Amino acid sequence: MFVQVTGAAREVTGSCYLVEVGAARFLVDCGMHQGGDREEALNFAPFPFDPAELDFMLLTHAHIDHSGMIPRLVKKGFERPIYATPPTSDLAEIMLLDSAYIQENEAEWRTRKARRAGRREVEPLYTEDDARRAIRLFRPVDYGAPKELAPGVTVVFHDAGHILGSAFLELRLEERGEKVKVLFSGDVGQPDQPIVRDPEIIEQTDYLIMESTYGDRLHVRDGEPVDELAAILAEAKRTGGNVIIPAFALGRTQELLYFLREIFDKHQLDMPVYVDSPLASRATEVFRRHREAFDDGAWKLVGEPGGIFDFPQLHYTASADESRALNEKKGIVIISASGMAEAGRVRHHLKHNLWRPEAHIVIVGFQARHTLGRRLLDGDKQVRLFGEEIAVKAQIHEITGLSAHADQEQLLAWASHFKPPRLTILTHGETVAAMTLERLLEDRLHFAVVVAERNEIFELEGGAE
Ligand SMILES: [Zn+2]
Ligand SMILES: [Zn+2]
Repeated sequence: MFVQVTGAAREVTGSCYLVEVGAARFLVDCGMHQGGDREEALNFAPFPFDPAELDFMLLTHAHIDHSGMIPRLVKKGFERPIYATPPTSDLAEIMLLDSAYIQENEAEWRTRKARRAGRREVEPLYTEDDARRAIRLFRPVDYGAPKELAPGVTVVFHDAGHILGSAFLELRLEERGEKVKVLFSGDVGQPDQPIVRDPEIIEQTDYLIMESTYGDRLHVRDGEPVDELAAILAEAKRTGGNVIIPAFALGRTQELLYFLREIFDKHQLDMPVYVDSPLASRATEVFRRHREAFDDGAWKLVGEPGGIFDFPQLHYTASADESRALNEKKGIVIISASGMAEAGRVRHHLKHNLWRPEAHIVIVGFQARHTLGRRLLDGDKQVRLFGEEIAVKAQIHEITGLSAHADQEQLLAWASHFKPPRLTILTHGETVAAMTLERLLEDRLHFAVVVAERNEIFELEGGAE
C-alpha cells in the first residue's frame, strides 16, 4: 500500500495523488498547475503513471487546481468512474467546460503566433470534447455514506467547508489483513463562511494528508465584511457612482450575493446588482440545485422569493450585448470575473469606471503579484486596458479576511481534534508555509510530520485488527 504525491508538493497548485492498495490503483484529485509559464508547462509533461491503468479516481472539490487535469487524463486513456459529491460533480461539469474553452482559445492564439514565426501549430492541453467525455465519468456519492470502490478500498466523503461540495476523503484501506485509515484533507475551509457548512471535525486517522496553504499566515479582518460593504454601497448610492467587484465565479460571487441580500434587507439600501460572468451565473445555478449542502442560515434563505440568489435587485447578464449595456448605467453594483482582474468581463467594467472619481472598486480576494488587482491595491494611478491608458481616479477598497481557506490558527484548531496520526504529510503549500505548519504541528500537537516532495512515495503500514 502506498501514496505517491505527484503534485502540490511545496507548491499550492496541481494536487494529485496516486494510491495503490492490493490490485487497485487510483487517483485522489488531478489538478492543474497554475500561476505562471513555468507552472503551466508542468501540465504538458507526461503523467508519472499510465492513465489507462487506473481503476477509478476520487475528487475532493471542483476547483481547477484539483480537477483541471481530468480532461487531460481522459485524453491520455482514462475511462473509469470519477467519484465526487453531487455538488462537486455538477460544479466540475461547468468548471471543466470553461477550462477547455480557455485551453482551446489559448492554443489558437499560440498557433497564430507560431505560424507567423514559421513554427508548427500548438495543440491544446485538452479540448471541449475531452471535457465532455470526462463529465460522463462522474458518479455522485453522498456525504457520510461509506462506499466500497474496490476490494479493500472504501471511501467516506466528509464536508470540508471550503466550497460547495468540498470534501475530506476518509479512505479505509485493507491489504492482506492489514488495515489502514488515510484522510485526505483536500482544502480545509474557514469556519463561519456563509452558505457552506463548517469543516467537519474528525478524530482518528492513521495517516493525515493535509493542505498547508496558509500555514504561515493569519487572516486579518479590518471589520465585519458585510458592514464594510454596506458603507461603500451607501457612499456610492449618495454620489451616483458604480461599485465594481472583481470576484471568482465559484464561491466568492455567491458569498457576495449573500452579503448584498443581507444589506438590502437590514440597511434600507437599494441598488441594482448585476452578476456579469457567464461562469458565475452557471455556478449560481448549481448552488440553487444543491441547497442540501448549505449551512442552516443559507438553507432558510434560498429558494424563497427574495432569497440569496433571487432578491429583487439582482440581475444576471447573459450576452455580451447585455454586458456592454451596463456601461450606460449609473449607481449600480457589478460583480464580475476574474477575481484578480486579469481576464474576463470585469476588465471592460474597470476600463469604463476606473477614471471616474465617483466609482468604487472593491477588492475581496487574494491578489497575486503583477496582477491588475494587485496594482490597483498598490495605488497605481495609471493602468493599461485594451491598449488604452486609463487614469485611476476611482476609490479603491479592500475587504480583508474573506477566504475559503482556513488560516494557520484554523488549520491547527482543526488538526487538534485528531489523536496524533502515525504520520502527517503536508502538501498544497509553498515551502515556507508548509514548514511553518510542520513545526507548529510537532511542537503544539506532538504530531509526526513531513513536508512532501514532488513524486515522493509513502508506504502505508497497517495495524492488524
Ligand atoms: Zn480549493
Ligand atoms: Zn486547492
